[in-house]
Amino acid sequence: MPRLFGVMAVGALGLLLGVVERNGFSQEATQAARERTRLGYSPAASERQRSLEQRFRGAVSTDRLSAFHAALTKQPHLAGTPASNAVADYLKKTLTDAGLDVDVFEYRAYLSFPKSIAVDLIAPVAQALRVTEPPNDLDPDTKRADLLPGFVAYSASGEVAAPIVYVNYGLPGDYAQLGARGVDVRGKLVIARYGRSHRAVKVHTAEHAGAAGILLYSDPADDGFARGETWPRGYWRTENLLQRGNAKYSWFWHGDPLTPGTAARSDGRDSGRMDPASAPTLPRIPVAVLSWGEARKVLERLTGDAAPPGFQGGLPFTYRTGPGDVRVRLRVQMDPGFRTIRDVVARVPGARHADRNVLLGTHHDAWTFGGVDPGSGTAVLLEVARGLGALRRGGWQPQRTIALAFWDAEEFGLVGSTEYAEQWRQQLRSGTVCYVNTDLYTNGRLDAGGVPSLRDLLVDVAKDIDDGTSSVYDAWRADEWRRLPADRRRRGQDTFEVGLKSLGSGADFVAFQDHVGLPTLSIEFNATGGYTYGAYHSNYDTRWFAEHIADPGFRRGAQLTQVLGTVALRLGEAEVLPFRFSHYAERLAQFVDDIPAWTVDDDGRRIVSLQLRPLESAVGRIASAASVLEHQIDEGLTSGRLPSAAPELNDLLARLEQRLLDESEPVERQWYRHVIYGWDIYSLYDGQPFPRLAEAIRSRDRTRAEREVERIRDALGRLDQGLREALVLTSGPGKE
Ligand SMILES: [Zn+2]
Repeated sequence: MPRLFGVMAVGALGLLLGVVERNGFSQEATQAARERTRLGYSPAASERQRSLEQRFRGAVSTDRLSAFHAALTKQPHLAGTPASNAVADYLKKTLTDAGLDVDVFEYRAYLSFPKSIAVDLIAPVAQALRVTEPPNDLDPDTKRADLLPGFVAYSASGEVAAPIVYVNYGLPGDYAQLGARGVDVRGKLVIARYGRSHRAVKVHTAEHAGAAGILLYSDPADDGFARGETWPRGYWRTENLLQRGNAKYSWFWHGDPLTPGTAARSDGRDSGRMDPASAPTLPRIPVAVLSWGEARKVLERLTGDAAPPGFQGGLPFTYRTGPGDVRVRLRVQMDPGFRTIRDVVARVPGARHADRNVLLGTHHDAWTFGGVDPGSGTAVLLEVARGLGALRRGGWQPQRTIALAFWDAEEFGLVGSTEYAEQWRQQLRSGTVCYVNTDLYTNGRLDAGGVPSLRDLLVDVAKDIDDGTSSVYDAWRADEWRRLPADRRRRGQDTFEVGLKSLGSGADFVAFQDHVGLPTLSIEFNATGGYTYGAYHSNYDTRWFAEHIADPGFRRGAQLTQVLGTVALRLGEAEVLPFRFSHYAERLAQFVDDIPAWTVDDDGRRIVSLQLRPLESAVGRIASAASVLEHQIDEGLTSGRLPSAAPELNDLLARLEQRLLDESEPVERQWYRHVIYGWDIYSLYDGQPFPRLAEAIRSRDRTRAEREVERIRDALGRLDQGLREALVLTSGPGKE
């Protein structure tokens, strides 16, 4: 009987590790073999896979993408409305016609719509401020009569007439600066500019500072003319465009604001729902949004000293904080309530492992037309579906099931994806090998995030996709290199390796990564560096905007279709799942190295002193186990022998991520369960490594910080243990 892993047959990891250190396993030979094969594939399987993927990519059509996009963006389709239901019906029919098996999952979620919104300047002059967006002849969609005003979902209802204070980005540091200058916001209205953090953080910070209401506006310094060409020549926001959004306090939990950890079921079994009056996820003060054209009428009238450094925005006058004699009245009547939302999930069932799956997702609801957000991403996932359906009609079936999900109510705070993840948590944990999200794309660089173990998979796939001038990988790497700080570039470009950014929040991957513990990727293209392009969440995010600015000709969309489809095929067919935990170890080592810098405050004083040696040793053990494991798997595959325990090995590898969760506390207290990854709420959507430790240090709680270090050590220990279990599985007899 041939043995796949000759060295491992001795069954002694300690001995093996010694061997690795001595001869390095002839790195070059392994490298050369890997170039000829695909990660996770034997040479023969690799050849079959190459031709399968080429067939998929060759059939991607910009015309089909454009047609899907036109159908999806025909009318505004806010979640929970008949128009959104019509989109769900269209998806179901289109996916069925494409040859996929389709299910619709309904939930009854607590959403929030506007009834009436009014903002008036009442002193020193009386003037109503516009809360709608004026139409423009260039884009017929902007002229529809049924467009909603700008609003912030989950705003409290209420009326406030009060002096107003400009609070910059509305973050705790801004209020501290105001307090130091004797500016008191209690009982007043505040006006904050968008940027730097999620809008909900601004609302929550204002509420806790004692403000009676808050206006949010888009300053041209952050997403207008100071950034680049404005609509209709470029991406950036004009004086008239508003940014809608939700203000749900999603750092308590994501998804439905009243049902942490359980699905908001549509069948009436609602006994577990919280009372909206006491849910911590809902704001208690009214919120409205303004364009800078309207906000200017308030800001330029404010008196008092010039605002502190860092408060000046992009308008051509000196920003002042107030309060002076400027008074504003804010009237918000919301219409919150339970509404039916629909997730549409399509499948190509696996031939050998039907109960194991790769899950790709995007959303289908939009604040308005969803030209870019999310029509771009929704059309792409439909084109992936069409390609997979065509392969299936030609007689192909993947090894594992490939599932494509179109989530609803993402814009209300990832509601559809989160309720699905909560309902199917056990099945996701046992069966889903990876979750891949794409929300929207614009015509720019590859923007990829996720867990480090999936880095090599994405690199390999990106090398196979043509971007018109080079490969998607070459363009990605060149772009990442340009963005590096100068001190890191000094080491030279030859050895530079791209990495995946840490995922924080902002799109439907959150429940899958942070609550369920799936290995997760987010793959998009991005021209503007994030979700802040000027038409974002405005009535101008239309078909016209997508066709003329975001992706003329849908060529970038075709590339994204190819990337996502190839990732799905690669994971759906792999003999051994292509996870590389050596990258996880590298990233963990960086995170641990960064901790000491967190423990020093702005004045250079140490807040807490932590013993990090146990973390360093744990990371070292993970690094060695991962490198041996990867070598064993690669050797086995390149010599054409699969471990007989491959199904067990694959399950183990896919579930290693779950070992990084901590589930010792009830879900209402700790919905975010990933020990390594979380959301830095004081950024826009950035990931926060070791989120609970960071929070403990920020709140200067030494005891808690020490406990969090132990929690991290335990999680790393569980990962290390898992890798060693995987090594045992690779040491069994192989099969040809
Ligand atoms: Zn979106």
